[in-house]
Formats: sequence, structure tokens, C-alpha cells
Amino acid sequence: PNFLADNDPEIWSAVANEIERQQDGLEMIASENYTSPAVMQAAGSVLTNKYAEGYPGRRYYGGCEHVDVVETLARDRAKELFGAEFANVQPHSGSQANMAIYLAALEPGDTVLGLDLAHGGHLTHGMHLNISGILYNFVSYGVREDDHRIDFDQVAKLAKEHKPKLIVAGASAYPREIPHAKFAEIANDVGAKLMVDMAHYAGLVAAGLHDNPVPVADFVTSTTHKTLRGPRGGLVLAKKKYAKILNSRVFPGLQGGPLMHVIAGKAVCFGEALKPEFKVYAQQVIDNAAVLAEVLLAGGLNLVSGGTENHLMLVDVTPLGIGGKQAENALDACGITVNMNMIPYDQRQPMDPSGIRIGTPALTSRGMGTAEMKQVGDWILQALSSPEDNTVLQSVRSQVSELCQQFPVPAAACETASA
Ligand code: PLP
Repeated sequence: PNFLADNDPEIWSAVANEIERQQDGLEMIASENYTSPAVMQAAGSVLTNKYAEGYPGRRYYGGCEHVDVVETLARDRAKELFGAEFANVQPHSGSQANMAIYLAALEPGDTVLGLDLAHGGHLTHGMHLNISGILYNFVSYGVREDDHRIDFDQVAKLAKEHKPKLIVAGASAYPREIPHAKFAEIANDVGAKLMVDMAHYAGLVAAGLHDNPVPVADFVTSTTHKTLRGPRGGLVLAKKKYAKILNSRVFPGLQGGPLMHVIAGKAVCFGEALKPEFKVYAQQVIDNAAVLAEVLLAGGLNLVSGGTENHLMLVDVTPLGIGGKQAENALDACGITVNMNMIPYDQRQPMDPSGIRIGTPALTSRGMGTAEMKQVGDWILQALSSPEDNTVLQSVRSQVSELCQQFPVPAAACETASA
């Protein structure tokens, strides 16, 4: 039976359309991925019915014996995966994980260093409309204009000048490996604590393919739904000495009942990431990004920092005489989903910036490899070179559909089968 279709045909219709969209298009938003069917099943389980305020063994509700097993496994697996002394798996999102650190480490008005949003940082790293920017005095560092790498001279200078209580490392749109030890050294020099938000590259860290911030940072936060390929949610890791304050800042500081179905999905995701297959997956994500970057460079596009060494690239589309918005729309018409993005030192506006951000985590989860990336890169070049030529866009669209048929989205297929 299809309970959703019978009970609520309007919602079912939108879900069915989304299944079709995910199956019939190329998802290249760098922060998205496709979960495994097991993660999807856990996240759609009866655990959504359970209230479990508190932590395993110390709950404010009865009947928590089974969800305690789930949360304990999730915490233990997260600690094992990243070599951390402490894990809190309850944050509903990456933003809430970040707020938990701020509430634990700062008083309102305190000074913090974070990467500028326009240079690849995240909203929660001090954007003025975000609660981080409202409550705290964020000072932004950026990337160098010539090579687009984090300007550590500037970070050190700002740290000396502003004496921040906390330095935030990590990014949403930075195509290079982040050397966390350099941040730790600067933080140490000025007596600041270091927080690393590894949301984007946590999957690469889990696979041992990106520098692990856990040994050098006081606090590490992440989402679980990007390269890590779990359900939508947040994660906090830290040294043991911060366990008590961090637990109390997540609950009751920021949240009430944890989403136990999502925590079950996180546990399954950490379990999957501990398997050798995940390392193969993460390496393929990086290899795919490298090949795609080569194709785009050869086609005349500029890449921020000249390339990529992780799961994403920032493409300056202005050499083709178009902006990021038109690029996003042209690719959308071909069934290729990306997002427009500011590039460092952008002369254009946020609603029509110079760039697009492209990532390979989701396509790699469908089983696509470097041969497919060469093909996809060619299609991107064709679409961006003729963004107003419907014949070209339609031709790419139908080839995209053909490719998609060969690479089913596993969890989408399961949902359709159970419907
Ligand atoms: N931190 C970084 C670096 C991110 O890129 C994101 C999401 O894009 C977040 C935090 C926030 O995660 P969420 O959307 O789950 O709040």
C-alpha cells in the first residue's frame, strides 16, 4: 500500500515528482548527496514517535531503552570514525551544532574570527543577519587575491589585532585542503580556542583523505548530509574536557527532544563510513572532481584557485560572457543542478555573481566515475557556451536523461518500490 498517496495525494505527488527529479537529473550541488537505502529506512522509522530529552542513561522520559542503544552506537561510531574523545549527535542541523559551540565558548559581544561569506565561509561564521553575527563580534579573514588560498598572514595579523576568544576554520565553498594545524598555531599564539566546521569535507576526513581537524581543534562541528552521506543533521566533536558544557548547550541550551529517527540514520551513516568501501567512494569523489576541473579548464573556464583538491570547484563563468545566474539557469534546463556562487573579490552582485559551485559527491554515490565526468564536463561547456540556444539545451537534456537511466538513485528506487 502507498499510505502517503492514499492519505495525502498532494504531498505524495510532490514527493513522487522529487523522486523523478532526483532520478532524472544530475545533482551537482556540492553540499548534497544521496543517502543509502539503510540510512533512509532508519530516518523514516518509528523512532520519530519517541521523546528522549536528555542523554543515554539520563533521560527525562520513560521507554528510552532502545533509543539509548541507537544514540550510544551513534556517539561511539562518530568517535571511532574521527578519533574524537567526545561526540554529541543531537544537533538538528549544522547551524545548531555551530551555535552549541558559540554558546559554550563565548559570551555575547565576544570577538571571533571567521572566513568571509564572500570568500567561501558559511552564514553561521558571522554573517550579519545570522544569529552568529547578531550575538558576536565576528571579524572576517579571506583568501589571497592572487592564488585564492586562505591568507594565513592576514589571519595571524587579525588575531593579534583583535585578540579573538575563538577562531573558526572551515568553509562552504573552498576547493582546497584546509591545513588545520596552521589555524591551531595562530589560535595558540593569541590564546584563542579553535573551532573547525568540517561540514563540507567531513566525508573526506572520515576516509583519511583530508587533514583531520580533531587532533588540533578544541571543537569540531559538521553536518552529516554532505560528503558524509548521512541524513540531514548536525554533529559536535570535542576534547573530553568540554563534554559537560557542550551537552548542556545542545540540550537544554538549544533544543528539546532529539530527532531519534535522524540519530538512527546518523548511526547507520557512521557505520557505513567506517567500512573500507567508503574510502573507495571518497577517493572517487576527489578523482571525479579533478577530472571535471580539467575538462572545464580546457574548455576556457576559470577555476577559483586554479583547480580543486576536494569534492568541489568554483567556476568563474564570466569568460563566456555570462553570469552565475544565467549559468545556473542554462544548466537547470539541461537537468544539471548547481548553485550560483560569489567568487573571491567578485565584482558582481550576490543575486547574479560571477560563479557557480559544482560538486561531485552525489554523482559519485550513483556510481559515476571519471568517464562520466568527462561527458558531464562537455555537456556543461556546451550549455554554458550556448545558454540561450534551446536546441543545444534540449539535446544535452535528453543525453543527461539517458545517462541517468544507467545510474539509479538507490534510495529513490526503494521508495518507488514500496509505493
Ligand atoms: N557549516 C558549513 C560549512 C556549511 O556549509 C553548512 C551548510 O551548508 C552548515 C554549516 C549548516 O548546515 P545546516 O544547513 O544543516 O544548518
